[in-house]
Amino acid sequence: MKVAVVGAGISGLVAAHELAKSGVKVVIYDKKNYIGGHANTVTVNGVDLDLGFMVFNRVSHRVEIENRL
Ligand SMILES: Cc1cc2nc3c(=O)[nH]c(=O)nc-3n(C[C@H](O)[C@H](O)[C@H](O)COP(=O)(O)OP(=O)(O)OC[C@H]3O[C@@H](n4cnc5c(N)ncnc54)[C@H](O)[C@@H]3O)c2cc1C
Repeated sequence: MKVAVVGAGISGLVAAHELAKSGVKVVIYDKKNYIGGHANTVTVNGVDLDLGFMVFNRVSHRVEIENRL
């Protein structure tokens, strides 16, 4: 089976990763020329700045974290 994932933000990347792990052939498409979506990092004057994903914690991702522990 082949699956196209539209969007290379964290949701699309995780979906693609899970599909690929189960043996599915995956192609990811994104309208931008970088991956990460809102969870993007830019470098300003040599300093890396996280624009949209600074915290991955129990408050914002309780279910995902507990399912992995
Ligand atoms: C300033 C800011 C701070 C944040 N801080 C935190 C934080 O500390 N902790 C936290 O947990 N969350 C935080 N968030 C939220 C977090 O960044 C987002 O919830 C998460 O990155 C969303 O991921 P996503 O994959 O669902 O969507 P997105 O990251 O939006 O990814 C969607 C992707 O789809 C692509 N796309 C859209 N339309 C098309 C199309 N038609 N064709 C092809 N590609 C398309 C986009 O280019 C993008 O790459 C923050 C967000 C912002 C803006």
